Amino acid sequence: MTKLNSFRLIKGERIIDAKGGDVLERGAILLQGDKIISIGREEDVIPPEGSQVEEIVYENKTVLPGLVDCHVHLNGIGDGRKGDQLNLLPDEILTLQAAKNARTHLFSGVTTVRDCGAKNSTTLRLREAVEMGITVAPKLVLAGRPMAIIGGHLWWFGIQATGPNECRAHVRQLVKEGVDFIKITASGGSTGTSVPLRPSFNLEEMNAIVDEAHKFGKHTAAHCTNSQSMINALDAGIDTIIHGVYNEPDGDRSYRPDITERIVDQGVFLNPTIHQSRERIWQLEEKSQNQKLNPEEVEELNTTKEGHEQRIEEVSKMWEAGVKIVCGSDSAWANYKMGRFQADINSHISIGMSPMEAILSATNLSAQSCCIDDQVGTLEVGKNADILVVEGDPSKNIDDLWNIVDIYQDGNLIDRGNYI
Ligand SMILES: [Zn+2]
Repeated sequence: MTKLNSFRLIKGERIIDAKGGDVLERGAILLQGDKIISIGREEDVIPPEGSQVEEIVYENKTVLPGLVDCHVHLNGIGDGRKGDQLNLLPDEILTLQAAKNARTHLFSGVTTVRDCGAKNSTTLRLREAVEMGITVAPKLVLAGRPMAIIGGHLWWFGIQATGPNECRAHVRQLVKEGVDFIKITASGGSTGTSVPLRPSFNLEEMNAIVDEAHKFGKHTAAHCTNSQSMINALDAGIDTIIHGVYNEPDGDRSYRPDITERIVDQGVFLNPTIHQSRERIWQLEEKSQNQKLNPEEVEELNTTKEGHEQRIEEVSKMWEAGVKIVCGSDSAWANYKMGRFQADINSHISIGMSPMEAILSATNLSAQSCCIDDQVGTLEVGKNADILVVEGDPSKNIDDLWNIVDIYQDGNLIDRGNYI
């Protein structure tokens, strides 16, 4: 347990505070209880006189903020099953799966997650269990049930709303249940009954949802897999666009610089989820090394590769245009298990980010997009001591983020037991 009068002095060969500046060589961070109370060069960080201080020195290691994954689905299993099957599992199983996923992600260095849609109250129950000390999890920013139209993407998680009044009523119900933000499926998606190339909610419904959410101080994030759904979301004043795929109703995939420009001008965050398809490519390529892929798998590999390359091209243009791109894995979903967020951060290198920019997209900016940057996302005085220690220097080699040495959550060293 955290004692408020306990001090901890963490010294590191390098500190990345994720505020956008340079790496701090030979730095130190002083923690009191769950908060950072001082950070700077080793010689400048002095504990109060006479205080009892536990000092930890990380030679040849880098200290940085705990990672913030702005897009997870804690209910997911990642074993290839589709959402249309996943949602059929009972709430009790989905809650236990959420607990497992949360622990896996935390142990891999992710100290904050935003869950972008879960069945019924499963994730809210998980939060209660964490507060009771039953299990451990990253900090949870929760949408609860996503807002969907009748038959729309993720409708089986619990909400199908029609008309502005019903939309407002559902937002009020979610606020009553204690959610932190509102997730909207503004277009169809992988849900069988939904229509991915068309918007789902009408503009007046989108307006009602976003307006009602903002009234209660809740932010909004919209799943958009076509151009018109992005336009509707932007018209409604959305805070984050998820996926952000340029698609016309006839399947034409023309890039729309006018929409990108609006995303930039309105300061909307984009969570492009570009690694998910690459994860599948890697899986199939690995499988093909040992055995022959069946014709469906060959077909899947080819189309996924093609789609992925197009996405990289699209998102590179958005990054170049100045879109605030944030890192969110969309795991666990389909074939993508949790605990591999570093692969997502790595994928941002392929759209033109430097390693440091990729780190910021998964810490500082990601926390901003989850409206939790007053607590986490950077190493700063007054913020929560959510800290990651890795071997090597991820500002030079992004894959050094995999080399986890220690993870602190609210000033406590996480005991990963025999996980590693
Ligand atoms: Zn998602």
